[in-house]
Amino acid sequence: MTVLSEMLRNLVSRPATTLYPAEKVPVPAGFRGRVECDDERCIGCSKCSLVCPASAITMVDSPREVEFRGKTMMRKKKPRVAVYRCIRCGLCERHCPADAIHLRSVLSITGTDREEVLA
Ligand code: SF4
Ligand code: SF4
Repeated sequence: MTVLSEMLRNLVSRPATTLYPAEKVPVPAGFRGRVECDDERCIGCSKCSLVCPASAITMVDSPREVEFRGKTMMRKKKPRVAVYRCIRCGLCERHCPADAIHLRSVLSITGTDREEVLA
């Protein structure tokens, strides 16, 4: 088959790939996707950062009042996850005392925060 005939055939044939991201593929149950932290719940205890085997979590300054077990407390820091370092092991989620950090069923690991993506 010549290059020209191959080009013509591809011009009229359907795309070989799926149309992601315009058409999202279904995410299977239990999929370990991007790690996200619920800022409203995080008490800044650093446990997620300490247990992370990939050193993907850095605690950064973020003072604010948070509710925890019926009490109001002042937290000093919050976690920032380096999305390309994370190996999706789930240890941060398992050890968080405030149920604040979770692996979401999100396929994309792109981000808008340079530090978060490139760290
Ligand atoms: S899922 Fe694992 S590797 Fe990723 S941030 Fe949490 S503890 Fe670290
Ligand atoms: S373990 Fe949970 S509460 Fe503690 S810093 Fe991490 S996300 Fe926040």
